[in-house]
Amino acid sequence: MQISANLPSLRWLGRTIVDGILPPRCLACGETVGEPGALCGQCWSAMTFFAPPWCAVCGLPFPHPMGEGAVCADCARERASWDRARSVMRYDKHSRRLVLALKHGDRTHLAGALGGWMRRAGGEILDRADFILPVPLHWTPLFARRYNQAGLLAHAIHAAGGPPVAPDWLIRRRRTPSQGRLGATGRARNVRGAFAPRPGHSVRGKRLVVVDDVLTSGATVEECARVLRRAGASSVGVLTLARALRAGG
Ligand SMILES: [Zn+2]
Ligand SMILES: [Zn+2]
Repeated sequence: MQISANLPSLRWLGRTIVDGILPPRCLACGETVGEPGALCGQCWSAMTFFAPPWCAVCGLPFPHPMGEGAVCADCARERASWDRARSVMRYDKHSRRLVLALKHGDRTHLAGALGGWMRRAGGEILDRADFILPVPLHWTPLFARRYNQAGLLAHAIHAAGGPPVAPDWLIRRRRTPSQGRLGATGRARNVRGAFAPRPGHSVRGKRLVVVDDVLTSGATVEECARVLRRAGASSVGVLTLARALRAGG
């Protein structure tokens, strides 16, 4: 009796050892979770994942179904240089933990899980694209951080079944001051002329997707898309992990 009563716990112990010495951790808070590359229940329910119904152009979620091909007020007023944009989740204090961990935490394994989410959220854009282009970092922050988080995400999206990555087709021509304290107009001015297609790599006729970690005002991806379109890209999609929404939006 004693032996059979102990069997389940012995089996559990054995499996725990086989699965690895370190139990899998929540991507956001570090709590122990059942499988690697997952969020704990609390973090999962705190995140705002985008889902249809949404703006056919920019992916902004609508509170109610608006009909096939409906677009939001911003997209109806002015078309961006990119064709379509999608994001996995709202950028808020919860998803910020994931973004910061990727940016500063040397937790590059995070990129694998986040890239899988981006592959799913961006399916409609990625399925008809030729290449993924990460938004480039200027060499100074790249050197300080040792890697470009947009590049990590781009490679993870490819690993999850997305199109190949063209890591250096888009270059940053100058360092831009931090966007943090600027309004939308200031951000647009700040990045004007900051990016260019790499000389010698023709993007003419190519269907491209620009990838970044966070979309705030959209000024950075707009400028990337503008120069790619001007260089002849046939379409430019935008895929980001998180997107900031205006308060109440
Ligand atoms: Zn958690
Ligand atoms: Zn829209």
